[in-house]
Amino acid sequence: MSISLANPELLLQEGWIDGRPASGERRFDILNPATLESVATVSDLGAGDAGRAIAAAAEAFTTWKTLSMQERSSLIADWATLIDDNSADLARILSSENGKPLSEASGEIGQCASLLRWYAQEALRLTGATLPWQSAGQRNFTIKQPIGVAACITPWNFPAAAVIVKAGAAIVTGCTCVAKPSEETPLIALALARLSKMAGVPDGVFNVVPCRNPAAVGDAICASPDVRMLSFTGSTKVGKQLYSACGETLKRITLELGGNAPFVVFDDADLDTAVACAVNARFYNGGQICVGANRFFVHDAIYDAFADRLAGKVSQLTIGNGLDPSTQIGPMINRAAIGRLERLIDDSMSKGATILNGGTRRDDESLFFLPTVLSNMQPTMAAYTTEIFGPVACLYRFEREDDVLQKANDTQAGLAAYVFSGNPRRLLRFSEALEAGVIGANSTNIFSNDLPFGGIKQSGLGREHGLHCLDEYVETKSVCLGL
Ligand code: NAD
Repeated sequence: MSISLANPELLLQEGWIDGRPASGERRFDILNPATLESVATVSDLGAGDAGRAIAAAAEAFTTWKTLSMQERSSLIADWATLIDDNSADLARILSSENGKPLSEASGEIGQCASLLRWYAQEALRLTGATLPWQSAGQRNFTIKQPIGVAACITPWNFPAAAVIVKAGAAIVTGCTCVAKPSEETPLIALALARLSKMAGVPDGVFNVVPCRNPAAVGDAICASPDVRMLSFTGSTKVGKQLYSACGETLKRITLELGGNAPFVVFDDADLDTAVACAVNARFYNGGQICVGANRFFVHDAIYDAFADRLAGKVSQLTIGNGLDPSTQIGPMINRAAIGRLERLIDDSMSKGATILNGGTRRDDESLFFLPTVLSNMQPTMAAYTTEIFGPVACLYRFEREDDVLQKANDTQAGLAAYVFSGNPRRLLRFSEALEAGVIGANSTNIFSNDLPFGGIKQSGLGREHGLHCLDEYVETKSVCLGL
């Protein structure tokens, strides 16, 4: 089985190094998790190939950094146009390798184009400063220069957006890029690389190194002194390993890691809004999302009403193959994800939780998991401290504001947090007190190109999106000019 596309050239099944396909001796299958059929067989590149990609990126940097910002901005905008022009094919590639509904895949591709266009504009405002004179005989000023070769290591759950948010920022600022996509979902990164060349991005500026076992390529990236920056999105466990590994060469690093988001619903909240947002915050992308609501804390006075309404909405969600337009929830990414959900549910049930919906896999063969709502959850259960990363909503009851604030912050993660209340003073109080990088207050609409996104505590370092995100990819140099 392949993927039916208007432009079959976009289904690139080799690596992409120095502007051309790079074959490996070994290959690996990419499965559609909805059907478990192979949709492509991709070159499995290794540490040597990563070295070639880094060398190509380092060579390309010597000229790419000398282009004017207008020239780079214009190429990035052309890349965005090509992404829009090919969005139907790109969405099919994304849905086929990841399983997500076509509507969500199309939304993600649209975000990629929109973000590149925004970078193209924002880069034109990346300026240094001329400082007040300290003496008549000297002028001091700052210039911003691209940091060099930037490596991007990205996860499977948003495999297009996670690549573009890094590679786009790197490339527009004058860095060159080596991307290592997830072994589950390399195809969309490769298609985006192909389009970058069609847009006129020069050879070596954007390289993609697919591989089945990431450690060898990851080690080569971390050890290379030519790689000046690593931008990683993925699990906290791997992020910590890479943080340590980059110490030897003292790379700049940004880390977007796992979350354990609280979702607090007070008794004065608008219940319709809170329930609609709860469905979005837990079941979007089948719950496989870092900002997913992991722990729903619901005030005792409205707990039963909230639970009933949420269970009712969840029972209406349609699960199926992402390529079927009626699908709202696709499959889990792999068997390990199903096993993790089952263990969390078993643990919760053994400690007193009750199931309002779902609670099991759909069948023994496929990777579909029934959308689930668990009630009577307790902090002693593993789901309280574990990133669930699936379509399982866990409801906890609370009575006091001080108690729920303590519980909401009772985690080493600090990515997203949500609060719902009709009292604006309480919303503000909570937004300030919740320990997370992004707060949704009566909203789960927390992504925008111009809004900084990132975690605190053990959810990460640095920010993506937002007015200052390009600063992650530049050095600020001070120049002191004697006259
Ligand atoms: P993961 O950490 O297993 O993998 C992420 C990437 O790291 C993949 O490309 C993988 O191949 C690579 N990798 C794994 N081991 C490596 C090693 N030893 N050296 C180099 N690279 C290695 O995470 P995942 O399962 O792909 O993604 C899910 C996780 O990502 C969740 O924890 C989720 O919360 C997190 N995530 C965070 C954000 C965010 O913005 N904070 C966004 C999306 C996903």
